[in-house]
Amino acid sequence: MDTQGFHKEYGVHLKALAKQEPLGLYLHVPFCKDRCTYCSFVRTSEEENRDLFIRTLTKEVQQWGQALDRPTINTIYWGGGTPSILSESEVAHIAGVIHEYFQIEPSSEQTIEANPGALSLEWLKCIQGLGFNRISWGVQTLHDDLLKALGRIHSSEQALQALGWSKQAGFSHISADLILGLPNQSPESVYVDALKMINHGVDHISIYLLDLDKACALKTEVEAGRLILPNEDQVASLYEILQDQLPRLGFTPYEISNYSKQEAQSRHNQKYWRRHPYLGLGPSAASHLGPYRWTSDLSITAWNQGRGQLTLEVLDPVDEWMEIPLLGLRLDEGIDWNELSMKASHLNVVPLFHSWTHQMKHFEMAGLVIFEDSKVRLTTKGRLLSNEIFQIFV
Ligand code: SF4
Repeated sequence: MDTQGFHKEYGVHLKALAKQEPLGLYLHVPFCKDRCTYCSFVRTSEEENRDLFIRTLTKEVQQWGQALDRPTINTIYWGGGTPSILSESEVAHIAGVIHEYFQIEPSSEQTIEANPGALSLEWLKCIQGLGFNRISWGVQTLHDDLLKALGRIHSSEQALQALGWSKQAGFSHISADLILGLPNQSPESVYVDALKMINHGVDHISIYLLDLDKACALKTEVEAGRLILPNEDQVASLYEILQDQLPRLGFTPYEISNYSKQEAQSRHNQKYWRRHPYLGLGPSAASHLGPYRWTSDLSITAWNQGRGQLTLEVLDPVDEWMEIPLLGLRLDEGIDWNELSMKASHLNVVPLFHSWTHQMKHFEMAGLVIFEDSKVRLTTKGRLLSNEIFQIFV
C-alpha cells in the first residue's frame, strides 16, 4: 500500500488515535561512511542522495504532521544509519520542520545517535543547542583490534574523547552501545570497557549480542574459520559479569539489553516495550498507532523517489493482547499476570492463557522467570534465554 492510499483509507481513525496521548517520533537517517562488517541494516554511503533524502524527509514530516493534525510528541529519536553524518544546517532544517508540523512538549526527550569517528566538539555544541538533550554513541568496544575487525571508523581513543565532549557540549544524558560475543572478549575486558565508558560520563548502556544471522562480511570471516567467536557459555559469562557489576555501579537493568542510572532510562525506547504510540519516518522506519503497525519501504531509492510502499498490519484485540507479554517481559519490572488473565477472559482466550501459564511455570522451575504476587518477570538467566521464553507468545 502507498502512503497516500493509507492516509485515504485510515486517515480519520489515525488522526483520532494520535490525539489520545503524545507520540514518539523516530527518524531513520540511512547514511553511513562505511559499512561495518557485522551490519545488515538498511543504509547507504551514496552521498549524492543526501539532498534528495533531506527533501523527501522534509515532505514526509510535513505530510504526517498535517495528516495527524499537528499531533503532540514527547520523544524524538534520530536513528540510523548514522544521523551524526548530517551537517548542523541539515539537522537544523529538519528539526525546524518538525517544530512547525508537530507540537513538541517542552520536557521532551530528544535523542540523536552518533558515531565517534569524524565528529567535532563544535558539531556537538551546535546539535545540543538545537534542543537535543540525549546522545547515543555507537562505541561497541574499546579494543582497537576489535573495532578494526568490526569495520568501525573510529578508535577507542576517539570514542572516549567523544563521550567526554558530549558532557562538555551540555547533553543531559549520554548512552553508549557495547557488543558482546566478539573474538577474545573476556568478562574482565567487557567490564573494563563498561567502567571506562561510565568514567567518561555515560549514564546509559545498551548491550547487544553479536548477531550474525543475516549475510555480512563478518559472517563470511567466521564461516571461513578466519575468526573464532566465543561459544554460548563464554558469551553467557560476558553477560553475567555486567549483570552482576553494573548494578553495583548504580546502573539498573531496566530492560533486557539496557542499563541506566536513575532517571536516565530511554523514554523513547520504553514506548516500544510499553506499547505506546510512535511514528517512524524515513526509508526503513516502523510505526505503531492503536491497532496499526506499519513499516515503510526497505528500498532507499524507492522511498527517495516517492515510490515507497508501506507494509501494514491491523491487529485484532487478541493480537494486541498477545503483544503484552512479548514486549512487556523485556522490562525489568515484568508484567501483571492477573491483569493478563482478566483480559483473557474478556477476549475468550482462556485456554491459550492457561497454556501460557503452564509453560511459564516450567520456566519458573528452570529458574528463568519469577512469579511475585500478581507480577511475573525474567530472572538473570531468563534474560539470557529470553528468545526461548518469548517463543510461546508468538
Ligand atoms: S554505523 Fe550502524 S548502520 Fe552504519 S554500517 Fe555501522 S552498524 Fe550499520
